[in-house]
Amino acid sequence: MEARSAESPPRLAPGPLLAATHNKGKVAELKALFEPHGFRVVSAIDLALDEPDETETTFAGNALLKARAATKASGLPALSDDSGLAVMALGGEPGIYSARWAGEPRDFYLAMQRVEEALQASGSSDRSAKFVCALAVAWPDGREAVFEGEVHGHLVWPPRGTQGFGYDPVFVATGETLTFGEMDPDRKHAMSHRAEAVKKLRAALLP
Ligand code: IMP
Repeated sequence: MEARSAESPPRLAPGPLLAATHNKGKVAELKALFEPHGFRVVSAIDLALDEPDETETTFAGNALLKARAATKASGLPALSDDSGLAVMALGGEPGIYSARWAGEPRDFYLAMQRVEEALQASGSSDRSAKFVCALAVAWPDGREAVFEGEVHGHLVWPPRGTQGFGYDPVFVATGETLTFGEMDPDRKHAMSHRAEAVKKLRAALLP
């Protein structure tokens, strides 16, 4: 566990939990992961909260920044997710800029295509990549904690499948043959970077 406060963070009591994100795919996954444990997940979309600029240089830094802003605006314990795809042959890009590679408005086919083009241009045959997820919790009293998870795999082209979101259609986890876009969502939720971060969070913060 990576608690970022002098005191250890309090346990999260079942009840309302604010998902500090405007990404509908993430909200759906956080609901699936937390609601079975007695939480009622409300999102930054439901509360019409502003999205802060992601000005930090790490997944953990950006996750904390988003959770802090959301708990301040709502008075609720806030859970945020900062995540992305890191491609080894691209030195970890798009990394914390994974959403931005999709342009505005977000177009993830374009983002996947840009990654593929960068990979081709790199001349490397290394198609390995990982998804990284940092989950941060911030409480209204200023305490906070952050947990990280990763899932390793490789990229395929062309994209396959319509499940999930973001870069799921081009990512195949190690030992699997289906992309996250083709996989049953429950199976993805059992092995994903987000699932690993949630597992750490649950061990540290859930009663
Ligand atoms: P941010 O954390 O809001 O900056 O955005 C992270 C971006 O990374 C998302 O918009 C997705 O494009 C990508 N990403 C994060 N997690 C996943 C995942 O589980 N599947 C596919 N793409 C993901």
